[in-house]
Amino acid sequence: MNKPASVPEQVDAVVVGAGFSGLYMLYRLRQLGLSVKVFDSAGDVGGTWYWNRYPGARCDVPTTDYTFSFDPELEKEWTWSEKYATQPEILEYLRFVADRHELRSDIEFSTAVTAARWDEPAKQWVITTGGGREVRCRHYIMATGCLSVAKSPDIEGAERFAGPVYFTSRWPHEGVDFTGQRVAVIGTGSSGIQSIPLIARQASQLTVFQRTANFSIPAHNGPAPAETLRQLDEGRDAYRDAARWSRGGVPVEPTDVLAGAASEEVRRERFEAAWQQGELFGILNVFADQGVNPAANDIVAEMIREKIRATVNDPETAEALCPRGHYFGTKRPCLDTGYFETFNLPHVRLVDLRKEPIVSITEDGIETAGESFGFDTIVYATGFDAMTGALVGADVTGRDGLSLKEKWAAGPSTYLGLMTTGFPNFFMLTGPGSPSVLSNMAVSIEQHVDWVAGCLKDLRDKGLETIEPTELAEAGWNQHNQDCAAITLHPTANSWYMGANVPGKPRVFLPYIGGVGAYRQACDDVVTQDYLGFTRTGPGAVRCTDGVIRSMQPDVAMVMEFVNALGLPPMETLSAADARALMAATAENRPPGPEVGEVTDGVIPIPDGTLPYRLYRPAGPPEGPRPLVVYFHGGGWVLGNLDSDDPLCRDLCARSGAVVVSVNYRHAPEVRFPAAALDAFAAVQWADANAIELGGIPGQLAVAGWSAGANVAAVACQLARDAGGPRITGQLLICPAVDSDLTRPSYEENGDGYILTTALMRWFWDHYADPADRGDPRAAPLRGDLAGLPPACIVAADFDPLRDEGVAYARALEAAAVPVRLTRARGHTHTSVTMVDVIISGAPVRAEMAAALEDFFPAAEPQSSAAPQAHVS
Ligand code: NAP
Repeated sequence: MNKPASVPEQVDAVVVGAGFSGLYMLYRLRQLGLSVKVFDSAGDVGGTWYWNRYPGARCDVPTTDYTFSFDPELEKEWTWSEKYATQPEILEYLRFVADRHELRSDIEFSTAVTAARWDEPAKQWVITTGGGREVRCRHYIMATGCLSVAKSPDIEGAERFAGPVYFTSRWPHEGVDFTGQRVAVIGTGSSGIQSIPLIARQASQLTVFQRTANFSIPAHNGPAPAETLRQLDEGRDAYRDAARWSRGGVPVEPTDVLAGAASEEVRRERFEAAWQQGELFGILNVFADQGVNPAANDIVAEMIREKIRATVNDPETAEALCPRGHYFGTKRPCLDTGYFETFNLPHVRLVDLRKEPIVSITEDGIETAGESFGFDTIVYATGFDAMTGALVGADVTGRDGLSLKEKWAAGPSTYLGLMTTGFPNFFMLTGPGSPSVLSNMAVSIEQHVDWVAGCLKDLRDKGLETIEPTELAEAGWNQHNQDCAAITLHPTANSWYMGANVPGKPRVFLPYIGGVGAYRQACDDVVTQDYLGFTRTGPGAVRCTDGVIRSMQPDVAMVMEFVNALGLPPMETLSAADARALMAATAENRPPGPEVGEVTDGVIPIPDGTLPYRLYRPAGPPEGPRPLVVYFHGGGWVLGNLDSDDPLCRDLCARSGAVVVSVNYRHAPEVRFPAAALDAFAAVQWADANAIELGGIPGQLAVAGWSAGANVAAVACQLARDAGGPRITGQLLICPAVDSDLTRPSYEENGDGYILTTALMRWFWDHYADPADRGDPRAAPLRGDLAGLPPACIVAADFDPLRDEGVAYARALEAAAVPVRLTRARGHTHTSVTMVDVIISGAPVRAEMAAALEDFFPAAEPQSSAAPQAHVS
């Protein structure tokens, strides 16, 4: 008789990992009445705090913040002894949590999960453990941490060393006694920086091998910060809630002090206060722009370098310890206790691998390009395959046999950092695309777990079985994640945030840098929009609400939020004079735009008088004439002047290398249609006739304009064609108004809330042109004959009411055989691409505009006497 096949174990959910996230996940799943099995290869709870037992291991977020908040009683019963608790104390805390909620009964320790496979017909995950045991579950949750898989020491000869070798990330439980030993430490990240001072206390000789000097500030450890304790006493819930909606998961008020605008005294005062405070979120918040502006960052970086020089006695060692080559904060900064001071000890030496790389590890030491070192022990503090290592290393196979490793071969792809398409009911806690490592983990973990628990409850309540993100939603989140990173200095660094520390790992910014509060809001918005971006299925039911949760550029969204919070009166409710005054007032404190070589003002004679112009000549070589761009400002034919678009003109001039002549045409309602259009044409004729005097190259004349300025630029091109000249070589139309039909979908989609509204557009038209005139091609150039017009570059912004008419103009030009380049300003509004040095994400769009201008101008003919030195690259 055959033995009956063993019945596989079955639970509602399997969780891998019993650290902060796994423990809380178990607690929440149990609350839902679900059966749960948690596996961990460790011998007890603790996750990262179970393994990372190296000397000096501590938290680097104040422990009063790095703590669970879900259980108010727990908060009363546990008191942290220090500002930054040690690893043993944090581990003790997690044991206490496990005991208090009797969590261990559902956890199997010393059990690794070796594979997980989605069984589509059964709608279950099949989990295989180290012993070959199978457990089936509906939901599979990896709570495996971001920094749990050690990076292999990719150093020649590493396996040859005969003495003891230790990894900070897998430290022996019994500890290590280095007394009397010659010790090498390789790596100067947080683990190295925390352990080196303590290893130095025991070792007879300590040699630190440093590849990249790291920024570190003194932790000033001691009792828990009195101010935090006071705030917690006054209102624990309010404090915790503020943390949940903060940027980094600790209630820190973001500063609005810009480094460039602050006096030297204020800069030093702010820096010194942050230095004395000894908190990462403080030193990362000295200036509002230090994370995005290289010059601002360098001010902080240099002040840290000064501190290092003042601490380390030997100038050469001090210089080697001064971080260079990456911006402060783009690699995880460290908190230390006596790190730099350690290099003043006579038995401690620094080897700068930038000058003297390791050639090989030998049987009894390390050989560098310049020297042979003998050691008794080597300590590797060389870091982790961060954020993705544990996930792709776990042999997870989703629908149709696709493995996570295959799917993520070019970099991770997630929705909200929580799920990934093709892997139904598979959740990651602190996955790539979540704030995780950039935040106070405890706060982020509670948010992730609460979201997953809410999601599973909702599925159950609705009788649904599976959930999985849509491809559109996932692509949108990946894009948003990269957009958020792109406006910061982070992508410039070879950091583990970028996957750059592991040879061969795709270079993608891994965590979500938009902030804990913004992330929480996005997750909440997904839920309130009926799980936007997810497909959920159940018996006979498929529910899918497809869409992208965040598609506006993050800096544009921030500015919009700021502007909307100002509660300014809608412009269309004002008189033209008041609207002009309001526009001028809002522009008062904006950045001036880049330096150019020369700015001169003048007037253009026209039959009825003169038009003011401002000319911008680029700085630097080549000497001699340049192509000429006649530019028309925005403002709905009513607002705007030479000042309003000054930063944009500087930017266009500096980027394109052309001479830009900005023209102030006459405005409505004082002078109505077709005055503005005719002024534009007159200005182009004048510029053409005076090209040489303006420093231009005759025959190399383009027009450009923004909004209503783009309208008159487009009309000028049509009038020039009809008049047989002047010859215009190109037209750059930025978010152009080209039609008086305000019924296109973009007027509906973007008609309110993004500064230029549909109502305001109506107000502009009413001021500019009588209804009977609005079909005239000189008002609505889209309605004109488009054949034979100059090549065009049209910029259409996603959140612009004018988007669709810009696109329509591009299509119509194309149909008329006019070469067109349509630049989609992804995630931008009508105004945001023009906000020079305010909206960082607008810079690539303006670079495209400048490239289009350059393309309009033919390369200078060497034999041409008119422009012998002109060069357009
Ligand atoms: P890490 O920051 O990645 O640092 C690894 C160090 O090893 C770097 O200095 C790196 O140099 C060096 N390194 C790597 N491979 C090397 C090689 N082949 N040859 C020479 N040097 C090599 O790793 P970590 O210190 O373990 O810290 C990782 C993260 O864990 C931290 O950023 C932090 O988020 C977290 N952590 C937190 C705490 C805490 O205080 N709570 C403590 C420890 C860790 P390069 O920079 O040139 O690559």
